[in-house]
Amino acid sequence: MTRQSVLEPNSLPGMGPDETFPIETLPMSDTQIAAIAIEKAYAKGRIEVPVLRGVDVRIRHGEFLSIIGQSGSGKSTLLHLLGLLDAPDVGEIHLDGQRIDDLPARTRDELRNRVFGFVFQFYHLLPELSLLENVLSPLMIRHNLWGYWKHRHEYVDRARRMIERVGLGHRLTHRPSELSGGEMQRAAIARSLVAEPRILLADEPTGNLDAQTGQEIIDLLRQLNAEVGLTIVMVTHDPKIADQADRTVRLAEGRIQGLSEAA
Ligand code: ADP
Ligand code: MG
Repeated sequence: MTRQSVLEPNSLPGMGPDETFPIETLPMSDTQIAAIAIEKAYAKGRIEVPVLRGVDVRIRHGEFLSIIGQSGSGKSTLLHLLGLLDAPDVGEIHLDGQRIDDLPARTRDELRNRVFGFVFQFYHLLPELSLLENVLSPLMIRHNLWGYWKHRHEYVDRARRMIERVGLGHRLTHRPSELSGGEMQRAAIARSLVAEPRILLADEPTGNLDAQTGQEIIDLLRQLNAEVGLTIVMVTHDPKIADQADRTVRLAEGRIQGLSEAA
């Protein structure tokens, strides 16, 4: 299949979108990010173990999508592919109608830093840094020392605003070890947003939290989604968490199995 036909399934005579995409029917023009016929396998010793076996999923601008699947179903793998942290064996990732998975490594790095924010189950905060420094770290990494120094006041203001936004304004100088699990995840969310991404990719963001704290994190994600139109793709094994998104799809047997709109 040519690239054009992948982009515009309707343009192929005799092949409607239903045949090309049995599950997703969203027109490409409404799509912000899409995974198209994605395959990914890992080597286990000498055996190739297929994890994703033809994943099609499209995500709208400003949508809060959850992807539910059992442990080991490939959720993290798919999220990494969507966010250009890894490359598919087969298939394409598109952003705003442009293929992005085959761009030169440098362009992919830039795009990843500019477009995507990531939140993980275990926060991945740097233990030696204060909360404020952790939240600033993506800006320090993105800009060289001089560039950072020149804009440091603006960046610190922005980081403080993000920290206020996630409800941690009273914890600026605390180290991660002095924060609760919920506070660490809030800090990780502030850090993921400081570079003003358009799409937040959240990998089991409540997986390490008790039910109430997890719910507070979901409430925060919902607010960010509603207030600033941040697109969120969240993967989870927990139906109670998944159900709170606008739409849920299931990843099983290496494919997206179906979708449901939230009531
Ligand atoms: P999930 O996030 O749904 O629990 P993952 O995407 O982490 O699933 O993993 C899916 C499968 O791929 C698992 O069987 C896992 O062991 C395997 N896997 C994931 N990452 C790697 C890797 N880097 N090397 C080898 N196998 C991997
Ligand atoms: Mg995972």
